[in-house]
Amino acid sequence: MEKNVIIIGAGAAGLMCTIESGKRGRSVLILDHAKKTGSKIRISGGGHCNFTNINASPDKYLSYNPHFCKSALSRFTPHDFISMLEKNGIKYHEKEPGQLFCNESSAEIVNMLHNECKEAGVEIRLNCHISEIKKHGSFVISTNLGAFQAESLVIATGGLSYPELGTTGFGHTVPRKLGIRVTPVKPALVPLTFSKKDLGIFGELSGVSINASVSCNRREFRGDILFTHRGLSGPTVLQISSYWNQGDSIIVNLLPATDAYELFLAKQQSKMEMKNFLPQYLPKRFIQKWCDFTTVPTLSE
Ligand SMILES: Cc1cc2nc3c(=O)[nH]c(=O)nc-3n(C[C@H](O)[C@H](O)[C@H](O)COP(=O)(O)OP(=O)(O)OC[C@H]3O[C@@H](n4cnc5c(N)ncnc54)[C@H](O)[C@@H]3O)c2cc1C
Repeated sequence: MEKNVIIIGAGAAGLMCTIESGKRGRSVLILDHAKKTGSKIRISGGGHCNFTNINASPDKYLSYNPHFCKSALSRFTPHDFISMLEKNGIKYHEKEPGQLFCNESSAEIVNMLHNECKEAGVEIRLNCHISEIKKHGSFVISTNLGAFQAESLVIATGGLSYPELGTTGFGHTVPRKLGIRVTPVKPALVPLTFSKKDLGIFGELSGVSINASVSCNRREFRGDILFTHRGLSGPTVLQISSYWNQGDSIIVNLLPATDAYELFLAKQQSKMEMKNFLPQYLPKRFIQKWCDFTTVPTLSE
């Protein structure tokens, strides 16, 4: 079978690329080894898919080529995606300023992308396992469903996270085999996990959340941090992880809105025990563990 474009990977990126190529009148085939499309979209945003942010702008993206984002965002804006939702009758709401979520479920986004694929006249083949890709002028893709040929090939097989959802690293190995340079990758927007010996009281504090400021490499984020049985998570920690490189320190300020000196002065005047005084400012469970674990500083120190 010969097509203008073959796209491998029916996730968010592959489906959007398929729709846009189809709309331009190209004959398009999308292949995926999974049983269904958009597995990551289905679990995104806690099942409600945070499908766009109306304040999205190039300066909010981390990229080896910052100009790519300028061009991409000017050609397809958050409002273009909102128009697609409205055309498909999907209701949505704003959570944090600018963050838009589906009222019902993330599956609505997958259904919408399917409708758009249908409208653009593209073909989707699932359970398709690729064994070989060769380039003889055009691309020849050998699979369990037969061989497919196309002038253009897009590999949209996602990053390395969540292998249980079908991620394979395919998009990193195939281009290398075809002689295409691949930029180095590193984890981003991830929780921090500690080795057993560094875990200390973190495991015992699992579930405690604190409004803190977290900084690394001259970037600072303010919001919730969450203790987990493996380390630290929460929106602020996920954000700072993108700026962390091996060996860097991350500074966590647990009282960003409070002058610590004034606080300890007030504590000394109150004659209360630290364990009883600090829960006015920080969660009681955290203070109890922290006071048991560490020597709490006094003003003279
Ligand atoms: C828990 C969670 C919550 C999230 N919440 C949000 C959110 O609310 N908002 C948001 O914008 N983003 C969110 N994200 C991120 C977002 O889901 C991903 O960035 C996005 O789905 C990635 O899309 P993708 O098309 O690049 O890759 P993927 O969704 O990973 O799609 C890749 C596709 O390629 C297929 N594939 C892989 N290897 C092969 C192969 N060898 N042969 C054939 N097919 C292959 C896979 O089966 C898959 O269908 C969340 C992610 C997670 C994990």
